[in-house]
Amino acid sequence: MADAPSPRMRVASSWVGVSKAGFLLSLALCGLLLLLIPAFQPAARQVDPPQPRARVKSSASALRNRSGLPPALADAAGDTERKSGLDVSSEEMNGSTETELFGNDDYKEADSEEALSTPAGQGGILPGPGSRDLLELKDIFIAVKTTRKYHKSRLELLIQTWISQAKEQTYLFSDGEDKELQMRTGANIINTNCSAAHTRQALCCKMSVEYDKFIESQKKWFCHMDDDNYVILPSLLQLLSSYHHSQDVYLGRPSLDHPIEAAERVKSDGLASAKFWFATGGAGFCVSRGLALKMSPWASLGNFISTAEKIRLPDDCTIGYIIEALLEVALIHTHLFHSHLENLQKLPTDSVLEQVTLSYGGYENRRNVVSIVGGFSLVEDPTRFKTVHCRLYPDTDWCPKPKSPNGK
Ligand code: UDP
Ligand code: MN
Repeated sequence: MADAPSPRMRVASSWVGVSKAGFLLSLALCGLLLLLIPAFQPAARQVDPPQPRARVKSSASALRNRSGLPPALADAAGDTERKSGLDVSSEEMNGSTETELFGNDDYKEADSEEALSTPAGQGGILPGPGSRDLLELKDIFIAVKTTRKYHKSRLELLIQTWISQAKEQTYLFSDGEDKELQMRTGANIINTNCSAAHTRQALCCKMSVEYDKFIESQKKWFCHMDDDNYVILPSLLQLLSSYHHSQDVYLGRPSLDHPIEAAERVKSDGLASAKFWFATGGAGFCVSRGLALKMSPWASLGNFISTAEKIRLPDDCTIGYIIEALLEVALIHTHLFHSHLENLQKLPTDSVLEQVTLSYGGYENRRNVVSIVGGFSLVEDPTRFKTVHCRLYPDTDWCPKPKSPNGK
């Protein structure tokens, strides 16, 4: 005998029996009504909404956010203008900008009031979801400028620390052979055959070789460093991932709080002047491949040297001149890059590992180092680069191992 239906089932089936006809009638009526409502009519083929363009010409917000990071990241890194000011003031720079060192007769300090106004025709890049690049470390070409006399005192430390994590893509541009160092460390040392003198011409000669090697490399980003920079590779990767290498991107830190001005001898006869920002080479800077290719008429195959000669400015200023003044692409100012022209001790301890580049020392100022605590004392690690490295890569064999609770 089949079980009697439960009261609840019975109610349901009887309702179905009684209202079957009415139900069918109302269904037909509803269908008719739905066809009359525009929203339910068959839609035309769905088209994705247009993506916002990453390149924003003269955008006020692009110029305001000069940290080089998307706003959220910039705040997290404690790296906004609000917190630390646009950059070092001229007094903080040991009174010797590279430009002054070379005694450029055309160099003239730009009026800082004018510097605050938006330069006409300059554009900025706003990082955004549409411009993200799935970037790997191997996509970045890192050029380190060095000289024979610093192979031992500066390069060895870099090779032991951050370069060990980016061996394949880091190239050391020097002015002499060092087969022994190359064999022992496996570093890519390039003898540029440029002069070993610390002159504008010699430095521009090295930059010219750096540029040509980058173009040849097919990599997505060109980053220039000095041999007293520590590169925090995860931060560099994160920063560059916010942009796309095919966009026009020039990222770095100005050492001046105003643009510089030089006699314009490339586009005109030198009677007019060009005013532009440049990223100081001592803090390192990066250029996207898209932009680097556009620089070619003034930068490739020795042209960089003649461009620098025309404006009589050093290598990093010449890069700024080509990008800002000739190509009209604005430098994205970032506070994540650091040279020893600034007071490095001012960098908050808890933000040191979030920076992109660090430096140390400076003219007669060995104590200008970042403040970070870790396994090495100031005597053992005067630059603090070993301490930074061991905080980032604690498993490195020469890093002090943290003591276990039972003291073993
Ligand atoms: N440099 C060079 N040739 C020289 C002296 C320095 O190529 O004769 C390089 C050096 O290796 C470093 C950069 O130029 O990468 C800046 O040198 P330094 O830090 O001594 O001077 P700064 O301009 O930073 O005060
Ligand atoms: Mn330096």
